[in-house]
Amino acid sequence: MMKLNREKSKQLFARAQQHIPGGVNSPVRAFTSVGGIPVFIKKAKGAYLFDEDGNRYIDYINSWGPMILGHAYQPVVDAIRSKVEDSTSFGAPTELEIQMAELIKKMVPNVDLVRMVNSGTEACMSAVRLARGYTGRNKIIKFEGCYHGHADAFLVKAGSGMATLGIQSVPGVQSYVAQDTLTAAFNNIEEVKKLIAAHPKEIAAIIIEPVAGNMGCIAPAKGFLKALRDLCTEHGIVLIFDEVMTGFRLAKGGTQELFGIEADLVTYGKIIGGGMPVGAFGGKKEIMQHISPLGNVYQAGTLSGNPIAMIAGYTLLKELDSNPSIYKALKEKCKTLSEGIGHILEKKKIPHVINRLGSMMSVHFGNHPVVDFESAKACDNLLFNKFFHHLLENGVYLPPSAFETWFISSTISEEDIQHTLAAVEKF
Ligand SMILES: *Cc1c(COP(=O)(O)O)cnc(C)c1O
Repeated sequence: MMKLNREKSKQLFARAQQHIPGGVNSPVRAFTSVGGIPVFIKKAKGAYLFDEDGNRYIDYINSWGPMILGHAYQPVVDAIRSKVEDSTSFGAPTELEIQMAELIKKMVPNVDLVRMVNSGTEACMSAVRLARGYTGRNKIIKFEGCYHGHADAFLVKAGSGMATLGIQSVPGVQSYVAQDTLTAAFNNIEEVKKLIAAHPKEIAAIIIEPVAGNMGCIAPAKGFLKALRDLCTEHGIVLIFDEVMTGFRLAKGGTQELFGIEADLVTYGKIIGGGMPVGAFGGKKEIMQHISPLGNVYQAGTLSGNPIAMIAGYTLLKELDSNPSIYKALKEKCKTLSEGIGHILEKKKIPHVINRLGSMMSVHFGNHPVVDFESAKACDNLLFNKFFHHLLENGVYLPPSAFETWFISSTISEEDIQHTLAAVEKF
């Protein structure tokens, strides 16, 4: 069935494996669970990826989120170009960092102070350290199938690559670290209540993806986030919304705006860097003032607030801020695509569940609602792998795992959606 010539990708993958663990610098890229040879990308523009063999793909990964306005978005490209001659790093403060912080505060509710870091992992890791320093407590609660980056404390029942590769526990994470990470099922408030009751005054933070995107896309049940908010307030627990994926994507102000619920700390990544390595965490001054140099919770970074990364992120955020109709258009596109796919799979009598919120969606093959990690795992993920390769052969690039979210960019056209649906039709 191989129609596309991917000879160069094949050769590059063989070469990469001699020098880079598994041939990749991040596990999900390796196609381990879907099988086959990863596609080596040469360039991308707008809605399309082009591989080393010259094949074109409609991109539904969009660098796992950042490319919300499409690849090589001209204002971002121009902004980077305009800055790069002034040196790529100083390790000293710049006005651009203030502009970035001011813009984030304008777009996002509930942030008095914000610290820039270099990845989503760093943002989440630092937010948890801060919550522990602020409360003087050790334990955290996370949800099964949620991913908060690869810091030790989060590699317990984690989503994304860990879910894809079926890794239960990670050698190298000390048991005493893992012990302090308690887990509950997503959307299950009773389990959270039990954990809090079993560990009175021991829980520093609850960290959650308010819309889960690392086990496929799963929306919070009605009232779930509000109930978490109330529990945290009642028990003096810091509520951390991990908006690395949802921030600036589901709304300008992320899920805090979308659901009207305020977290105590919020973490960002992905879109905030406009495709450069950036993360951020922020929140109320009362908590944030414990971060060094204001307080003693130490956190630092040689390249944090890097000028090239800042100008890329700032330019992208500015576009999103000045053009709120983008979100409505993205949502419409995602609706057309997901309903179209649903309709075709229905016709073909293939049992499926399509979850969708804003410009995030996922397709699971099964008969039951997908509301948490267990229900996501119970789907026919081997069928997903076939689906993935079928679409890839037809020039459509999906995330190479049923445990990942598809991201829509504003450059996806009606024609691209029709091309995708025609490919699904042939499945
Ligand atoms: C991607 C992601 C992270 C990790 O961000 P990195 O930049 O890959 O370190 C953390 N949390 C969520 C929700 C993510 O989707």
